[in-house]
Amino acid sequence: MKCQTVLAGTECTFWGKQGCIFTGGSCQTIAENCEGCERIVTGSIGQVCSAYPAPVKKWIGGICNFASHVKLDLSVADLKTNPLKASKKAAGAKKKK
Ligand code: SF4
Repeated sequence: MKCQTVLAGTECTFWGKQGCIFTGGSCQTIAENCEGCERIVTGSIGQVCSAYPAPVKKWIGGICNFASHVKLDLSVADLKTNPLKASKKAAGAKKKK
């Protein structure tokens, strides 16, 4: 249904017949780390995220996976190890014993 408060008129999965069902009854403003992200939109409470209602939580475990302004900097060495293949190798090694 369409939001009728923070981003009025925007389709939102958290808006139901009783209003916003997200924690606290509203989405929250962006986190400091969000600055520069293309997903920031201006709502009635200030700058909010168009992809996630609680931006601060998206940064708790590391970089927000929806962020458009921050890219993971993986080195070639990091990419050489395929965890799936490494797991299969380890499982194969165990069977041979
Ligand atoms: S996508 Fe992530 S970084 Fe961008 S505004 Fe939303 S929570 Fe912040």
